[in-house]
Amino acid sequence: MSLPPLVEPAAELTVDEVRRYSRHLIIPDVGMDGQKRLKNSKVLCVGAGGLGSPALMYLAAAGVGTLGIVEFDTVDESNLQRQIIHGQSDVGRSKAESARDSVKEINPYVNVILHEERLDVDNVKEIFAEYDLIVDGTDNFATRYLVNDAAVLLGKPYVWGSIYRFDGQASVFWAEHGPCYRCLYPEAPPPGMVPSCAEGGVLGVLCASIGSIQVNEAIKLLAGIGEPLVGRLMIYDALEMTYRQVKVRKDPNCALCGENPTVTDLIDYEAFCGAVSEEAQVAAAGNTITPKQLKEWQDTDEDIFLIDVREPAEYEIVSIPGATLIPKNEFLLGNALEKMPQDKKIVLHCKTGVRSAEVLAVLHAAGFADAVHVGGGVIGWVNQIEPEKPVY
Ligand SMILES: [Zn+2]
Repeated sequence: MSLPPLVEPAAELTVDEVRRYSRHLIIPDVGMDGQKRLKNSKVLCVGAGGLGSPALMYLAAAGVGTLGIVEFDTVDESNLQRQIIHGQSDVGRSKAESARDSVKEINPYVNVILHEERLDVDNVKEIFAEYDLIVDGTDNFATRYLVNDAAVLLGKPYVWGSIYRFDGQASVFWAEHGPCYRCLYPEAPPPGMVPSCAEGGVLGVLCASIGSIQVNEAIKLLAGIGEPLVGRLMIYDALEMTYRQVKVRKDPNCALCGENPTVTDLIDYEAFCGAVSEEAQVAAAGNTITPKQLKEWQDTDEDIFLIDVREPAEYEIVSIPGATLIPKNEFLLGNALEKMPQDKKIVLHCKTGVRSAEVLAVLHAAGFADAVHVGGGVIGWVNQIEPEKPVY
């Protein structure tokens, strides 16, 4: 299914622009017409992180006339392994400004608009309305559903991508011509079930593989060429080096774009996705200790059994002295329970306190009523107790 171009062509290209884009201009499918359409295009990139970095750089280089960047974060050293739009000297700077500077360096003809705010139900429609197309480079489910719902409600196409370790996915969601993200994933995964890149890691170059697919699809939609990735999900496995695609059909029962929609306006996405499950919240209430408290217990020889519920690779990077590693999954599968001592107070920790709260709920349900967890996890521990240790 080919689709008509999203954007009308600009009146002309300048002599400088013709020189700059000559390798596009001599491709018959792009040509002067396609390049003029790119010049007239307004594309919004949500996030200037792993996917947003390569996406913005290639969109800029390709000659997309206006690029919007939604980003409120600052550049952290741990971003640089994959977020190549930022450099060493940008650490601590606004990501939006850092991204704008790189875009301007790649292509000074691009008009860059910064939206230095967190995308939410109050601003998303107003921001999206200004653009022809959205590139979704978000890394969490709440924002993903927000982007999808706003795009569907406004009738805008968007190019979606997701990355985790060596696995990537991409698709184009455009309710007018195919399915939306909710047709594919009607429900957000239960909190704690799908680890984020911050928890599970991501191969840096995977961002480029998926981000470039997103730009490829954006260019096709803007210029009206080729077969857009509408109704198809691209699945990339970098370890096996395979690209597979599966058909995604529009779900007639989709809550948003189906025949009898139940979602007719934006909703509370944090609640829909639940950063921490209700069970975990209940378990953690009144049973959360600080890293300082843990240190005091250790120093006074309190009889505790400290369990690190992260993954082995994380444990290798940094750990709290005296912690025994038992990954979260072993609790979810039930295998870990027999290893729990009956005569010691159980103290759990993870990276920041989300996963340990989930495990705490499991332990409480299994009868270990006095188990507690460490708020802030190993990151809090390093910040407060052992600042010389690395964080990730
Ligand atoms: Zn749908």
